[in-house]
Amino acid sequence: SIHKDLEEKIARFHQREDAILYASCFDANAGIFEALLTPEDAVLSDELNHASIIDGIRLCKANKYRYKHMDMQDLEAKLQEAQKHRLRLVATDGAFSMDGDIAPLREICQLAQKYDALVFIDECHATGFLGPNGRGTDELLGVMDKVTIINSTLGKALGGAAGGYTTGPKPLIDLLRQRSRPYLFSNSLPPAVVGCASKALDLLMESNAIAQSMAAKTQRFRSKMTAAGFTISGKDHPICPVMLGDARLAAVMAEDMLNRGIYVIGFSYPVVPKGKARIRVQISAVHSDEDIDRCVEAFTEVGRKHGALP
Ligand code: PLP
Repeated sequence: SIHKDLEEKIARFHQREDAILYASCFDANAGIFEALLTPEDAVLSDELNHASIIDGIRLCKANKYRYKHMDMQDLEAKLQEAQKHRLRLVATDGAFSMDGDIAPLREICQLAQKYDALVFIDECHATGFLGPNGRGTDELLGVMDKVTIINSTLGKALGGAAGGYTTGPKPLIDLLRQRSRPYLFSNSLPPAVVGCASKALDLLMESNAIAQSMAAKTQRFRSKMTAAGFTISGKDHPICPVMLGDARLAAVMAEDMLNRGIYVIGFSYPVVPKGKARIRVQISAVHSDEDIDRCVEAFTEVGRKHGALP
């Protein structure tokens, strides 16, 4: 019953008809495309979508189109090409975790309407903090009624370290319960994780204070770091990639930040393209303004020490 309660709560949180739980969002992404799409259908996927979306799409027999990252002209061309198929599904991350950029969902939904396509978003990097009430990218961009399917995780902002789900129209969720392989052939979520996620959703639905504070904290970090001379990729997202370019520089700076008690992670090739190494900072609701200021000060010191700042 706690699992059923949580599914109902997730659907209510996202203002959707129903929801289905998985052990992870990786599983939710692995299960949906194969269950929903046939060889007569088409799926159109952003080239920088998360690995689990790519793998989920690999498992289905639909016709596959890959459009250039957030490129609406290319998406439109691919949608035109895909008119010959029975059903079209546009699949995109709501927010892309490596660069902290947000998908142009308004434009995507307009194109989907024009070319009779469904829209699927992966909200792992949006659920719980983007939008005025933390509902996600669709709330932030005012298209909650236009996005058909949401997959997301209970393991990131919602804090449970595990769990995922699909939420959307009831007939789709009914279909997934009958056909989705990671749902049918794997254990359900441990009860403690269900309890934790359920409480996290209660906190978010009681008040929008947490979600609102995220926007302010993100803005504080991004603007102070930019003023200090750093380049932060993306816009308005609490994932703040501090762009450094050089892989070794990112590694030694991250290590020095850790020596100062600040846990940030350096990313370099092959996780990101060559020459685009960065330190990815993630702002959390539990960070205080003082924490953020201390982080910026540490970055400034470490950046000067290693020549990333003059
Ligand atoms: N989708 C995106 C965009 C992700 O970033 C991740 C995790 O990194 C996943 C799906 C998988 O989520 P989970 O950890 O719940 O399997």
